[in-house]
Amino acid sequence: MAADTVKWTLHKSCYMDLDDEHTVPENYLSPNNYVKKNDELANAINETVHIVKAWADRGAKKIDDSISFNPLIGQATKDALKPLIGRGNYKDNAKDIRDKFKKLATLEGPIGKDGDARGRYEQSNAWKSLQENNDHYLDFVIVCRPELTIRKGDFNPLGAPYDMVRLTQLYKGADLEVMILQEKDPGKWDELAQRLQAVTTRDRDLSEVRLHVAETITFHPLWIKTQMDKGFEGWTQEIFDQATAANAAEILKEKSKKNQQDLRPVDILLDASFARNMFHEMFHLTAFGRMSDDIAGAYWWANNIELQNRENPDLLAIIAVVIELLNREGSQYKISADGTVSQR
Ligand SMILES: [Zn+2]
Repeated sequence: MAADTVKWTLHKSCYMDLDDEHTVPENYLSPNNYVKKNDELANAINETVHIVKAWADRGAKKIDDSISFNPLIGQATKDALKPLIGRGNYKDNAKDIRDKFKKLATLEGPIGKDGDARGRYEQSNAWKSLQENNDHYLDFVIVCRPELTIRKGDFNPLGAPYDMVRLTQLYKGADLEVMILQEKDPGKWDELAQRLQAVTTRDRDLSEVRLHVAETITFHPLWIKTQMDKGFEGWTQEIFDQATAANAAEILKEKSKKNQQDLRPVDILLDASFARNMFHEMFHLTAFGRMSDDIAGAYWWANNIELQNRENPDLLAIIAVVIELLNREGSQYKISADGTVSQR
């Protein structure tokens, strides 16, 4: 049986908590003694996927308006998107983005939410039956902490990390291992030199894809923790005040020098949004285009204005954010071509 829509669910690290011991069994890198329900985290993740779908759905409609024959309908959207996708034929580019958003908006899940305590989400019968489909690799699991053991193999007699969620042998130093090691030391998000908010994992080659193994979006456990600590409230008034401040660009110039990144005021909003992060990861999935980060500069406003690469996940996330800011409930904001944020 083939599934028509892409389905997703949660890994136990997103809906259960560790017991008080937090012990790590021998041959494990990650603790695995999940015992208590954690509805707070599960609800936050579910809500974020809901927001991602809403951004995709409304974004597709607004982009459609921007290529309408009636120029009055979608002019604000078109003005806002031109710096991001205006090179070449705006209309063709806009249709391409619209179709990518439309597909994302059809996402279905979380599967197994209402299963009983021993069989919810990825442990539910509903999810297990999807595993029999030959296109289950198009489905995915959201993971809030990598689940890794150490296994020996032909090429790693001393042992290397093994991903228990996708049943995949990893190499030493793989992103998922980095997350677990950083969670132990230094254990604080703000102290990390290199921050991987999330990693999307898929089989490397489409011709060797395992049909019955779902892909994963794994969030850094420390990134999840910082989100939990502030109740997943990314866009606070404080953040908007920083981004719209008259001296925002000036302050960022100093930070740009330090980070060797050309940062603009809108990047404050991009960085603070967990939904932007999730929107980005979706486009790494095979189901939504199997895209790779642009090696010339995947992130931030200035890079994306320059590259306008419609196969770069962060460009799609930035477009979603720009449309959201223009249309959101409460105060609305517009982003100018140089990345300045102003109240609309
Ligand atoms: Zn990426």
